Amino acid sequence: MNPSLNEADSPFDLALRPGDFDEFHGQTKVKENLLVMVEAAKMRNEPLDHALLCGPPGLGKTTLANLIASAVGSRLHTTSGPQIERAGDLAGILTNLQERDILFIDEIHRLHPSIEEYLYPAIEDFRLDIIIDQGPKARTIRIDLPPFTLVGATTRAGMLTAPMRSRFGIPNRLDYYTTEELQHILLRSARLMKVEMDAAGASEIARRSRGTPRIANHLLRWVRDYAQVKSQGMINEAVASQALTMRDIDETGLDEMDKRFLEALIHKFEGGPVGLNSIAVSVSEDASTLEDVHEPYLVMQGFVKRTPRGRVAMPAAYRKLGLIPPLSGQS
Ligand code: ATP
Repeated sequence: MNPSLNEADSPFDLALRPGDFDEFHGQTKVKENLLVMVEAAKMRNEPLDHALLCGPPGLGKTTLANLIASAVGSRLHTTSGPQIERAGDLAGILTNLQERDILFIDEIHRLHPSIEEYLYPAIEDFRLDIIIDQGPKARTIRIDLPPFTLVGATTRAGMLTAPMRSRFGIPNRLDYYTTEELQHILLRSARLMKVEMDAAGASEIARRSRGTPRIANHLLRWVRDYAQVKSQGMINEAVASQALTMRDIDETGLDEMDKRFLEALIHKFEGGPVGLNSIAVSVSEDASTLEDVHEPYLVMQGFVKRTPRGRVAMPAAYRKLGLIPPLSGQS
């Protein structure tokens, strides 16, 4: 796998995280929508509406949650779906909130259904109904909560339950970044890291970053090391290209696991259609990692198509592996 795909936020990530909306480049539509929400809340002097951010990992959902909080001058509390195991965990978090605080729940699609049930009245009516004791002694205690804002993030909007989705307004969908946007982000990161890099060097890294700022920044870190050892620290197109080729990251950003995905699909399953679980077993990777991290990019690049009967290799996938696409075409 690409060394940078699944890494959680490290101190390195945090150091490069944009500090305000002006520094957050790209995702124009989402940014505009959020800024309208922020301004409207400020003008009405009310807590911000609940918001949902959707999109593949590393595109900036956590960053945006931080920016929203600082734009409205609120405290941000961060947790994630799998971290809230019991109703008591949620109660602990909610009862710690102050008025207008922002609660950011990452991977909100992974909240347990029983926890979701507790969350609904909390976000709709700012109250928490906790059942204590069991059997005949069971009773419900109602706790009033201060008005707060829930910002949910998910890599899988499709897995959100309908009741949960309906609690948010229109979802904010983050798309993969263009090469130009990533180039801009990389030049900013290079300035912060005090690394010398020209525009062509940034563009070369951007092209291979799978449309994802987190990956772009992590590749930059590797290219910086390479440049330090091989070219007195200066990053240009040739240095970036050599450094990334050395790590098996090809010109379209595909990494080893992406290529194994395509190879399995074409060689073991005759180009599909085949279910994702079969591909996962074949490449020894977790199906949800394939679905969250690898597949969206392969689909976006036109290598793979998702059909109701399973995944199908597109002509571009055959060409990528140096093969001739079948005459009937799988498209
Ligand atoms: P995950 O779903 O994996 O938690 P995420 O979508 O929340 O990912 P972030 O953690 O917000 O992604 O972003 C990853 C890193 O990418 C951040 O540390 C930040 O430095 C950088 N980044 C993301 N978006 C931008 C942007 N628009 N401009 C500059 N840097 C960005």
